[in-house]
Amino acid sequence: MNDNTNTSDVRGDRVVTNAQGNPLNDPFATQRVGQHGPLLMQDANLIELLAHFNRENIVERLPHAHGSGAFGYFEVTDDITDICGSAMFSKIGKRTRCLTRFSTVGGEKGSADTARDPRGFSTKFYTEEGNLDWVYNNTPVFFIRDPAKFPHFIHTQRRNPETHMKDANMFWDFLTTPENQVAIHQVMILFSDRGTPASYRTMNGYSGHTYKWSNKKGEWHYVQVHIESDQGVKNLTNEEAIKMAGENPDYCQKDLFEAIQKKKFPSWTVSIQTMTEEDAKKLPFSVFDLTKVWPHKQFPLRRVGRLVLNENPLNYFAQIEQAAFSPSTTVPYQEPSADPVLQARLFAYPDAQRYRLGPNYHQIPVNCPYASKVFNPAMRDGPMNVDGNLGSEPNYLATKNPYNFSQSSRPIQQHQEVWNGPAVPFHWATSPGDIDFVQARDLYQKVLSQQPGAQDRLAHNIGFHIASSQPEIQKRVLDMFARVDKKLANNIFKECELRKKELCRF
Ligand code: NDP
Repeated sequence: MNDNTNTSDVRGDRVVTNAQGNPLNDPFATQRVGQHGPLLMQDANLIELLAHFNRENIVERLPHAHGSGAFGYFEVTDDITDICGSAMFSKIGKRTRCLTRFSTVGGEKGSADTARDPRGFSTKFYTEEGNLDWVYNNTPVFFIRDPAKFPHFIHTQRRNPETHMKDANMFWDFLTTPENQVAIHQVMILFSDRGTPASYRTMNGYSGHTYKWSNKKGEWHYVQVHIESDQGVKNLTNEEAIKMAGENPDYCQKDLFEAIQKKKFPSWTVSIQTMTEEDAKKLPFSVFDLTKVWPHKQFPLRRVGRLVLNENPLNYFAQIEQAAFSPSTTVPYQEPSADPVLQARLFAYPDAQRYRLGPNYHQIPVNCPYASKVFNPAMRDGPMNVDGNLGSEPNYLATKNPYNFSQSSRPIQQHQEVWNGPAVPFHWATSPGDIDFVQARDLYQKVLSQQPGAQDRLAHNIGFHIASSQPEIQKRVLDMFARVDKKLANNIFKECELRKKELCRF
């Protein structure tokens, strides 16, 4: 089996050549007329060098542009074959090679690692059943549950079209609009200590979405995945994160790279929560609602394995920048649920990779499912086709299995959920009553109250952020947090006033 994810050392032959392999006497020499005359059009080396330089950048991800990554493995520690029939879980001790990329969300490529932002936590597993991507975040919930709101919401964290600056008014205007306050749970986590992780090694990952996993008998469960840091969860304060953004914007990249270089390999414990269809019907919220968690007491974590990162990329651009993740990249027995945001991501992610890297992005070594055999004769040609293009193989199939291959017997969903109903313009805005605020309140009153100073730091972090927004927006923010807890809103007000005084001094 060939591991295509390794970048070989290309420095063995020390002759400098142009891109066509023709040796160069002097890579810095230019062809010119006489000692000081104009340059010649025939100087192909210079022209190629400059032309290539102009084309070094590829389209950056939007969002999740800025990130770090490393290779490693997933190891099964506990049997879950009663829940999932995927080959990667087939026996205890089994290891599957993987690549994990961590990222911030809203910032451009090159922005600070320590920005207050959710973190992406994506892992590509090179399994014998093809590649599997877990495209997760470091928070168990998200801001929206209507996918059509995604570009609108992300725009509020980008630059104001007129001032070309980040704008707290845009951010809070969107979030405090009554029909968007469904974001409150995620906003609470974002402004808690966990909004500024101390490193990628010391944060958790969560599927957030509900997935559907089946065993080989066709029995299925809703599943949520938790990836908990064995290094413990550690965070920066607001002030430490801001200071670090100035002193070393690549703080988390350095931390991850150097830890692996020193063989202090970070690891995470991977667990699942499972829910039956019957349990899902009894929930006070929809199982497809991305703004809710499944309470631990009701749905305890069940350990599956561990994720270990033990190998730095040899080339960041080749192996991390070109890595392409998508929740649609999945293996038998792990399927998406009907969560509408997940359904939209199934289109949006591979579409982003086709745009960024081209339609043959799966041929780039880091994305190539090297542990399985790829065969689809109708997927041919296209830009940057570099894998031989299936040679003289006919470019069509006339029958399902012309070669008498042993066909896969992957179970399909026909005996699982049954959907029925008219096509409706559905907008999942606010839920009736208080349900969208319950878990945010639990976090504040039951979880943060047990962590010394955590409630105060939450109020400080929000007050600090809203101080640069307009008074009308600040009022809306206070009203929204009063629905979580009145004490929280009062403390945010005090922190905001303190910060405004500080800002006046600048
Ligand atoms: P539990 O008391 O069993 O769980 C509380 C969880 O809160 C912890 O396990 C920890 O998650 C998480 N936590 C601790 N500090 C923070 C923070 N600053 N920001 C976000 N999460 C934090 O109670 P429940 O399961 O009933 O959940 C209560 C609340 O905990 C929820 O409303 C939710 O906000 C939060 N939570 C719940 C999760 C879940 O899957 N049930 C996952 C994460 C948060 P962890 O163990 O993953 O570190």
